[in-house]
Amino acid sequence: AGANKAAGAAPHWQLALNELENKQPGKVVVVQTAPAVRVAIAETMGLAPGDVTAGQMVTGLKKLGFDYVFDTLFAADMTIMEEGTELLHRLEAKAAESAGKPVPAEDGHAASTILPMFTSCCPGWVAMVEKSNPELIPFLSTCKSPQMMMGAILKNYFAASAGVQPEGVVSCSVMPCVRKQGEADRDWFATEAGPGAVRDVDHVITTAELGKIFQERGINLKELPETEYDNPIGAGSGGAVLFGTTGGVMEAALRTVYELVSGEPMGRITYEEVRGLEGIKAATVTIPTSEGSPFKALESAPGAGVTLRVAVANGLGNAKKVIKGVSDGTMQYDFIEVMACPGGCIGGGGQPRSTDKLILSKRQAAMYQLDERTTIRRSHENPAVQELYKNWLEKPNSHLAHEKLHTHYVPGGVGGDDK
Ligand code: SF4
Repeated sequence: AGANKAAGAAPHWQLALNELENKQPGKVVVVQTAPAVRVAIAETMGLAPGDVTAGQMVTGLKKLGFDYVFDTLFAADMTIMEEGTELLHRLEAKAAESAGKPVPAEDGHAASTILPMFTSCCPGWVAMVEKSNPELIPFLSTCKSPQMMMGAILKNYFAASAGVQPEGVVSCSVMPCVRKQGEADRDWFATEAGPGAVRDVDHVITTAELGKIFQERGINLKELPETEYDNPIGAGSGGAVLFGTTGGVMEAALRTVYELVSGEPMGRITYEEVRGLEGIKAATVTIPTSEGSPFKALESAPGAGVTLRVAVANGLGNAKKVIKGVSDGTMQYDFIEVMACPGGCIGGGGQPRSTDKLILSKRQAAMYQLDERTTIRRSHENPAVQELYKNWLEKPNSHLAHEKLHTHYVPGGVGGDDK
């Protein structure tokens, strides 16, 4: 069992505070904050969604004693790079298979030809597949969630750059989600497997718990100056911000996949078809290919461009409808986003409770505004992401990227997922 499971009954926010209060010499205590946290943390102080900036939250976390504060947005951008590339590899492999050609190899194996590909960043959705629809496991992207990608990056890349051993980094997260601790406790999310393994993420605190800690310590975020997130794992793009709301992973992925295929930025940056809070959203995107493009084989006819059929399921009830439609052939998609909570992570079980019926729309609007305010809005344009590949992983879906940033799933699920 992972270290977290052996930690006893103390809640994880308490374990994280203990680490800060009894900091061991030579250890650094770091924290990452998820996209949806930054809009809802203001509500724990009686303010409207988005009324406290992410920079003020960073200052507050430093006041609590965290040595480094990192932005999960960075790992959301990494997820787009890895997942977008995985999707294109599956499409290429499928096209080769259909044409009777050899399936291209990926990381020493024949690439998967299984489509549609489902997103894998939501542990509520992953648990449903593992427990109720294990036959769909090969359809899940192999990408770890942004939280777990960030954990692996922190314990490997960051630890090395900071001159500390992976076991010298205490890795905490602030998440909108009550399932993220169960995700972090999966045995293989560690630098090495087996007893004594160093967990990639040690302690998960929810948005509501963090708000309570700030209140109890008398830390009023609204009055604090702003501090930037720490480097070398830098800021995230506007696309990454959108991970916090239903349709956001799809919109961020389209921004990057479009450019990977066409060599040109998508003409428009927002993709209204996948925005909003409807149950199931779907769109067909045709991406032109340039002369000599490696993706010409994906065109249905020469010069027709690459057609991508995408769908977004908002909540598990809608996911079940999509699964049924895909199984009986009434729905045909290449890529499907599923988030278990209504509205996506903005509506997660770890967010502050609200009696406002419009709270999800307000949180979603705050996320769209944050995207609009960023100067870099596409994941692949994030210079820190480009640096990480240059300095460490080489390229998306490389052997090392597979080893550190991808995962596997277990039919029937694993214990602890319901935490
Ligand atoms: Fe967690 Fe809900 Fe977000 Fe899924 S949608 S990651 S269960 S908060």
